[in-house]
Amino acid sequence: PSSHPPPAARTSFSRVLSSKRNLGILSVVGGSVTAGFLLHREHLSAGPSVRRLYPASAEYPDLRKHNNCMASNLTPTIYSKLCAKVTPNGYTLDMAIQTGVDNPGHPFIKTVGMVAGDEESYEVFADLLDPIIKERHNGYDPTTMKHPTDLDASKIHSGQFDAKYVLSSRVRTGRSIRGLSLPPACTRAERREVERVVVDALAGLKDDLNGKYYSLTQMTDEEQQQLIDDHFLFDKPVSPLLTCAGMARDWPDARGIWHNNEKTFLIWINEEDHTRVISMEKGGNMKRVFERFCKGLKEVERLIQEKGWEFMWNERLGYILTCPSNLGTGLRAGVHVKLPRLSKDPRFNKILDNLRLQKRGTGGVDTAAVGGTFDISNLDRLGQSEVQLVQTVVDGVNYLIECEKKLEKGQDIKVPPPLKQFK
Ligand code: ADP
Ligand code: MG
Repeated sequence: PSSHPPPAARTSFSRVLSSKRNLGILSVVGGSVTAGFLLHREHLSAGPSVRRLYPASAEYPDLRKHNNCMASNLTPTIYSKLCAKVTPNGYTLDMAIQTGVDNPGHPFIKTVGMVAGDEESYEVFADLLDPIIKERHNGYDPTTMKHPTDLDASKIHSGQFDAKYVLSSRVRTGRSIRGLSLPPACTRAERREVERVVVDALAGLKDDLNGKYYSLTQMTDEEQQQLIDDHFLFDKPVSPLLTCAGMARDWPDARGIWHNNEKTFLIWINEEDHTRVISMEKGGNMKRVFERFCKGLKEVERLIQEKGWEFMWNERLGYILTCPSNLGTGLRAGVHVKLPRLSKDPRFNKILDNLRLQKRGTGGVDTAAVGGTFDISNLDRLGQSEVQLVQTVVDGVNYLIECEKKLEKGQDIKVPPPLKQFK
């Protein structure tokens, strides 16, 4: 299969070539340009393709039992238009949708069912990804809309929750290193390069953010399990969402966690994204958690740039991450909150929907809730700024706690009106 962009596209590689690091990557492939990312949509849709033995109709996946965004947006027409296309890194539509084909549904959340192998996937497979993004992100139209960023935590109000209900507060995002393939597609060398670049940069974090990197290959099984049990570290690669997307290949090579001494600012390396940046602490002070998040994230970006690298980003999609559900801000602001009465009320799910909140179990996305304690976080990531999304969670969780208090006193609760959609 050819992995060369058409001649017309080559002129748009000026920015790749201006970065000394990317120049290094390009020279590895023997002078042919295969790592570009600033291709225009028209160039790519006319771009490279794989030779296929059977017609698209014979390859079409059986999605009759499926309930994910990929399955609800893929059509034979879109499939036949895209199935022979390939990104400059060699990623295909079939690779991108494999996780959604193999996982018809998820017991607790509606999944996207598709991942990106590189930054260009979002352009090459836009005919499928754009409608998926629109469905998943509350009507956000990536063909016409622009994504805002706002990391000014001082704008948050009422950001302190009642600690009788809220056990812990957390804000996370992801960031990808431009020029390197994403976890579903990266080679071992690329993955190790991500680890090297990020760990190098993080050595520059100072004062309360000063910390250390702990490689998975160097910690004992007990140390790893303790970090997981304490909610600091990602789970072992047991989730089929991860394995079917190719993200668990070579585990635990080049995976690890960096954290500051207090374990309140943490960076996961090479799990579902190149990096996940997390601020968390016990109790209900979401405002303080978000302040640390904003400060730390800006520092991390500055240090990465100082080393000659940059994050994947564009104005339509915001920060580019592996799963389309995380585009935009990549932000998931959440609390572990005790709602034993409200969670038994038949209106609970409707209330969460209307407040644009998502519930998970406290052991992570693949766990069921136990004992009425939930991980409640924002459902959307794209089209609204970090500040807006954190405020949505603050207001929403305060509302849930009010409901819980009313139910304790035997009073009635109301389903709030739905928050606005982008339409
Ligand atoms: P993410 O979206 O960050 O990948 P997951 O659902 O995969 O989140 O969970 C990752 C880990 O983070 C789990 O161990 C989970 O318990 C922990 N976690 C998530 N939210 C919170 C929170 N508010 N407080 C404490 N730990 C949390
Ligand atoms: Mg996760």
